[in-house]
Amino acid sequence: MIQRISAIEEMKAVAAGLRRDGKSIGLVPTMGYFHEGHTSLMLRSAADNDDTIVTLFVNPTQFSPCEDLEKYPRNLERDTKLADEAGASFLFTPDNASMYPAGYKTYVTVEGWSSRLCGISRPIHFRGVTTVCAKLFNICAPDRAYFGMKDAQQLLIIKKMVRDLNMNLEIVAMPTVRESDGLAMSSRNVYLNPEQRKAATLISAGLTEAKKLVEAGETRAEKALEAARAKLAESPLIKIDYLEAVSEDTLEPTQDVGPGTLIAVAAYLGATRLIDNLSF
Ligand code: AMP
Repeated sequence: MIQRISAIEEMKAVAAGLRRDGKSIGLVPTMGYFHEGHTSLMLRSAADNDDTIVTLFVNPTQFSPCEDLEKYPRNLERDTKLADEAGASFLFTPDNASMYPAGYKTYVTVEGWSSRLCGISRPIHFRGVTTVCAKLFNICAPDRAYFGMKDAQQLLIIKKMVRDLNMNLEIVAMPTVRESDGLAMSSRNVYLNPEQRKAATLISAGLTEAKKLVEAGETRAEKALEAARAKLAESPLIKIDYLEAVSEDTLEPTQDVGPGTLIAVAAYLGATRLIDNLSF
């Protein structure tokens, strides 16, 4: 049966005990409201490691004041059950006051990369993500941590932080889990009304158009992006925040697409901002 822990010191002691006993630890950091994207990470971690710690923390430092921190969907009882069924041993649910006590001052930033793509409209977001992940890695001492490719920029930034700071864990990337019509699963999909939900399928459909072109031999990024843009333009409900082809090594825009290129998109449906991507 899964054990819920909310005190940082207790979580640290439990993780240290596991390591002393020679157990391998897998970590799955989340903000909760689980769907199959989250549980795919937990299942993989449970298969790879002796124990899996799922963390559930809606991290305030990655939300700007105008974003959805307060109304971010929550369901702790359901999440506990899903994490248990997916094989997690612990659900770590720290609170804001213990993660960021009065006088908190330390932040981790992957410079440059944090201000590209999503970082343009969410300037403090990745600083919050890298900071909270560094804290969770220190508290839970995992051998491996699992992240979804749905948040491709986050995954690349976390990998970079781990490399640059010589952190002692492996980052495991897991494929994007989608609804049957292609929409990438996201806790934020619950915000969509039925019309927006229908239009949202154009995001993944646009990426599929780009992929088809590239698989047919197109190497010019602009052509692939044009095909995706045309698909997204089929609904007036979609407002593109960005649609870009970038190098996975540098996050800089590329003229050519092929192995090592990421096509990433963020789009608004009403006030809801969704992201998706495709890599080759
Ligand atoms: P979140 O709770 O949205 O912060 O996500 C927690 C973890 O689940 C992150 O590593 C995400 O990339 C991953 N994740 C979210 N949605 C999906 C999805 N549709 N497929 C795979 N992984 C996902």
